Amino acid sequence: MNIGIDLGGHTLIAALVSDEFGGSPPRIVRKVSEGTPPGRSVSRVMDAMADVIARLSEGVDVAAVGVAIPGMIDASRRHSLKLPNFPLEWDDLDVSEALGDALRRKGLNLRVRIENDANCYAIGEGSAGEAIGVRDFVTFTMGTGIGCGIVTGGALLTGSHGMAGEGGHLVVQGSAPCGCGGIGHSETLAAADGTSARAAAKGLPADFGELWALRGAFEADEVIETTLDAMARTIASTCHLLDPAMVIIGGGMSKAPGIGEALRERAVPYLSRPFKKTLDLRISKLGNEAALYGAASI
Ligand SMILES: [Zn+2]
Repeated sequence: MNIGIDLGGHTLIAALVSDEFGGSPPRIVRKVSEGTPPGRSVSRVMDAMADVIARLSEGVDVAAVGVAIPGMIDASRRHSLKLPNFPLEWDDLDVSEALGDALRRKGLNLRVRIENDANCYAIGEGSAGEAIGVRDFVTFTMGTGIGCGIVTGGALLTGSHGMAGEGGHLVVQGSAPCGCGGIGHSETLAAADGTSARAAAKGLPADFGELWALRGAFEADEVIETTLDAMARTIASTCHLLDPAMVIIGGGMSKAPGIGEALRERAVPYLSRPFKKTLDLRISKLGNEAALYGAASI
């Protein structure tokens, strides 16, 4: 058994996950969810994670702990480099060591690994979701931002600095500033935050689900089309670059009924002819649990 943790700005979710056995995929045996400690300081978050790990590992033999980190991590997969929604003390922090220390104070000696949360999502889809047995695939999570994870040749693509797979920052259109410091990026237009801002400017609901329900009304369609078009460009460019067997869409926005077909329809015209036939676009069935499965198997 392993433990996977999905560390979010508001919620900390942890799961005890069984190993793959005899061809059957891993499954979540126990799951706990609690609020991330206010202030998100290193010491309080480490203690909170050590607490849930101690609770989940009671009476079971746990081999390792994996943590999905909401931000950039270094190539060694030990240090967090930049967590946009966490205090600066997380910059260049050895997370494996800090959590290992917090666990030892509770009498637990467990191996700790970390991975970027969007990458954990991809790994989870590969171990327990749509992409079991698939060697080349890409996942996008459409939420506050656009997360992306790339598996190629059966392995997670990490790049020379550990930063590969930032598909939400593909340059798609215009020159609007992105929160990351660049301009013209996909997530500025396609993610929930940008979509909400454009909707609010027209007096439409900021919540994507509510906005989606208004499809057919001209003003709502205008906002939604910009979102879908930016995401379709992102998907098409990714396919041209990586030739994946499958593209999986997850995240809160993926729950909008029919969004998979809508994205497919808009991505196909951007694709070169051979790629139009090979596009296999799917909506994640694991949802948020994908990151937990991924974290548990790093
Ligand atoms: Zn960006």
